[in-house]
Amino acid sequence: MSERSIPSGSYAVLGLGASGEAVCRFLAKRLDQGTVERVVAYDSADTPELRSRAAALEALGIECVLGAHAVTAPAAVAVASPGIRPDSPLMRSAQEVAREVLSEIELAYRASSSPWIAVTGTNGKTTTTALVGHILDCSGVPCEVVGNIGRPAISVVDDTGPATVLVAEVSSFQLRSSFRFHPRVSVLLNVTPDHIDYHGSFEAYAADKARIFAQQGHGDTAVIDVDDPGSARYAPIVEAAGVSVVRVSLTSEPTRGAFLRDGVLVVAGEHGVVELVGRDEIRIKGQHNVSNALAAAAAALAAGADLEGVREGLRTFAPLPHRLEPVGVVDGVEYFNDSKATNPDSVLKALTAFDDRPLVLLLGGRNKGSSFASVAKAACTRVRAVVVFGEAADEIAAAFEGKEGCRLLRAAGLADAVTAARSVARAGDAVLLSPGCASFDEFRGYDHRGATFRHLVEEAGRAT
Ligand code: ADP
Repeated sequence: MSERSIPSGSYAVLGLGASGEAVCRFLAKRLDQGTVERVVAYDSADTPELRSRAAALEALGIECVLGAHAVTAPAAVAVASPGIRPDSPLMRSAQEVAREVLSEIELAYRASSSPWIAVTGTNGKTTTTALVGHILDCSGVPCEVVGNIGRPAISVVDDTGPATVLVAEVSSFQLRSSFRFHPRVSVLLNVTPDHIDYHGSFEAYAADKARIFAQQGHGDTAVIDVDDPGSARYAPIVEAAGVSVVRVSLTSEPTRGAFLRDGVLVVAGEHGVVELVGRDEIRIKGQHNVSNALAAAAAALAAGADLEGVREGLRTFAPLPHRLEPVGVVDGVEYFNDSKATNPDSVLKALTAFDDRPLVLLLGGRNKGSSFASVAKAACTRVRAVVVFGEAADEIAAAFEGKEGCRLLRAAGLADAVTAARSVARAGDAVLLSPGCASFDEFRGYDHRGATFRHLVEEAGRAT
């Protein structure tokens, strides 16, 4: 079987969310063609929404089992949705029953004939992936932006050929079950503690992220942020495998790299140093976004973008929702929604975007096992006040114990936290929701939390 063909036989699809549904629709076509024998989809939940999704899939010949905790039909291949935990009963039984357990991205890779750019890292994936796509658009390079960013890769592979670049945001969950996945260009932004509850240890998490390089060799490019020790350590390893490594840095000037020189984003390689745009010309805020912009530019250039397209793309890319997104001004105080910051490192990065004014920081939600010591250390020297809220409020407050320099306020939930922030913020300040935690104690997801924050700010604006 070639590297780029999908296995035949019977399939189990684990999870019936957006990714699982897209896998089922892809496999349904193969059922019709007779290249796949049988497809059974499983989900451990059983809700009215899932039932209607299952009914639509059953009309296409897919068997669906809801409320499932085990794979019950024989299957040669299981395809796991990103949300299925490795220790879940469904995953365990799939591992016993199936010959191979693949991620959706692996299946999409095998089914596609496109070159891939894959972006991973603890933070900045979505921003960087979207920016790579935007730069390729500006350069006239046909591309599709897929993966965790919202559109499953498997849903586009039947309609895209070798001339279209697939730009994929890939998570460590997906890389864990990817074996032949071979991006022509890989991007590793950073590896800092996150999802330790899922992966078991930081080392296991880092090892899953590094799988992005596993199939790369001569002729391929890896763009690696070397300011972050978690990602930097892979640069020499990947280089030793013959991959052309482009190092991204804000603090050094690598010979082959993308970096900042006198406030200008530049790329350096065989052709010398080329200026792209001034740091002030990009619209996404904070140091971390300069790193993301450099990485995106380097990746797009490696995939055929031209310099003018890169410059235009960098100048015109707007902040994505829930990522340092300005959501309004009330009583002279500007509010920023960074609800997507769900771990401490992303909070630290967000703080760098506000060197110019006093800040009130909203922290809280459901902790994913992270320590807030570094956030407390950084925050107390530069913010006016911190409001802790939600399930993790006490835990975060404890990290601030003994720290002087900023006021600590407690709030029950997000609405309370906004009220508390309003009571301490003064005209000219910024209020930043960069919670450093998951949202599930109070919300359906980070986007629900961010939309609620925006709504609360708008309401406050109307009331003044
Ligand atoms: P991801 O898709 O990896 O979660 P996003 O682009 O959605 O990344 O950004 C999520 C949050 O991570 C942002 O709100 C920001 O606070 C933080 N962030 C973005 N880029 C970086 C980076 N390069 N390093 C550290 N933190 C970052």
